[in-house]
Amino acid sequence: YSKQFLLKAANNSNQEQVAAGGSHLSFADDLREAIAQQQLQLYFQPQIDINTGVICGVEALCRWFHCEHGMIPPDKFITLAESVGIITELDLWVLRASCQQLLQWRAKGLQIPCISVNLSSVNLRYPALPELIFEVLQECHLTTDDVIIEITESGFVEHEPIVQDVINELYANGIQLSVDDFGIGYSNLSRLQTLPVSQLKLDRSLIEHIETSSIARSISEAALQIGKSMQLQVVAEGVESENQYQILKEFGFHVAQGYLFSAPLSVTQFERWVISQ
Ligand code: C2E
Ligand code: MG
Ligand code: MG
Ligand code: MG
Repeated sequence: YSKQFLLKAANNSNQEQVAAGGSHLSFADDLREAIAQQQLQLYFQPQIDINTGVICGVEALCRWFHCEHGMIPPDKFITLAESVGIITELDLWVLRASCQQLLQWRAKGLQIPCISVNLSSVNLRYPALPELIFEVLQECHLTTDDVIIEITESGFVEHEPIVQDVINELYANGIQLSVDDFGIGYSNLSRLQTLPVSQLKLDRSLIEHIETSSIARSISEAALQIGKSMQLQVVAEGVESENQYQILKEFGFHVAQGYLFSAPLSVTQFERWVISQ
């Protein structure tokens, strides 16, 4: 399958090269090298159980430390990785590194119930993906309780049979799926009924206006109720103020994540944060 990867990557980058006059191609090569040479790093952002105020999970967020350009945020390189055919490699690297990190924390006695990892919806078109994810968990002796896979709402909108098959197989393997950036993806709500997911993450653009806009408040509360009626865990992302947190608490949200508690942190910073709680 790695041969297919390279072929696909080569084909796509030829097109890229024509379109972007070559600069995209070298950027893509840099990214391929970055994955191989450990220039990618994970940052970690804690998730708080709103009932208890205690950490209940952590989201792994990828950063690229480029030797010339410095730190490149994921918004800049995920789309590139998708377009040159290396997003499967990248996301699986992130999953494996996240699982290994979780094991190390537990070995140190840090109580981290589970780790959330982002998966590009491009990977939902890849039939071997569920098996590959499951293999990583087995390699690390982790169970499906230890990991949550986040896919953006827009990624679930696809109605192609292949996407549905991959989602169903992930579910059949017990993999916990989360709908990321929920509320902005224009998916029809009835689609949600048929999705085998266990978590909804409300997009931060809704949380941002929860104090000032009664519409944002209504939408957030409605989304929470929909999630609850489907027995999903509902997470609010981008929580920045105590006031927002209080509103979410009153509404009955389950989990909060955002700068109010902590920005994404490097491993050492994150460990210090956990110990200081
Ligand atoms: P996301 O999964 O929705 O992650 C949340 C983003 O919001 C992160 O941006 C995080 O740093 C930021 N954030 C968290 N709390 C706050 C807050 O209180 N206020 C504000 N303004 N922002 C907050 P980041 O790390 O730049 O990641 C952006 C996106 O890139 C992610 O959105 C995710 O879709 C994607 N991404 C990151 N890592 C990976 C990865 O390993 N694989 C894939 N496929 N996508 C990734
Ligand atoms: Mg996410
Ligand atoms: Mg999100
Ligand atoms: Mg996002």
